[in-house]
Amino acid sequence: MFVFGHVGLTIGAAYAFRLAASSWRKRAVALSMDFRLVIVGSMAPDLIDKPLGLWIAPGLVDNSLRSIAHTLVFAVTLLGLGLTVWALGRGQKLTLAAVSSAGHIMFDRTWQTASVLFWPFLGWDFGASYPPVGEWASRHVSDALRFFTDFPELVGFIIIVAVTARLVHTKNTRRFIRGGVVS
Ligand SMILES: [Zn+2]
Repeated sequence: MFVFGHVGLTIGAAYAFRLAASSWRKRAVALSMDFRLVIVGSMAPDLIDKPLGLWIAPGLVDNSLRSIAHTLVFAVTLLGLGLTVWALGRGQKLTLAAVSSAGHIMFDRTWQTASVLFWPFLGWDFGASYPPVGEWASRHVSDALRFFTDFPELVGFIIIVAVTARLVHTKNTRRFIRGGVVS
């Protein structure tokens, strides 16, 4: 999955969760949801692992473009940290980002590459093979340009457009930029 799918579907899931939580009278939790963190969290594994595999430490991650931040260990650790911070009364922001980041791993269907998802329990090698960087990049660009042929990408794109239109229509763009509020 690429950017529209990850960002749009995670925003959609967070929005649906908030609606459900409101009806369960958990308004205090729901209303303070910062959608900026949902967006950053939804892309966090790629924002970490792509630079690692391409430029920063390709040797360390076996040239894999899905590595540390796409593992279950990373997701559980981040979620544990988030819940600890939340339990200490320091807010739910890290938890929100952690859940969004875990959603990324799910949307990527990382379970199809068990060597990554269950790293390091199946061995230290991430074991995901990728074409040379130039070929990978050009394939990604052409995929991005044909996003409307991929159902999850298309749905994600529609959600992003709908949320943006709502923010503009209700004149809440500034509230979103400053506090991540989507009403
Ligand atoms: Zn990914």
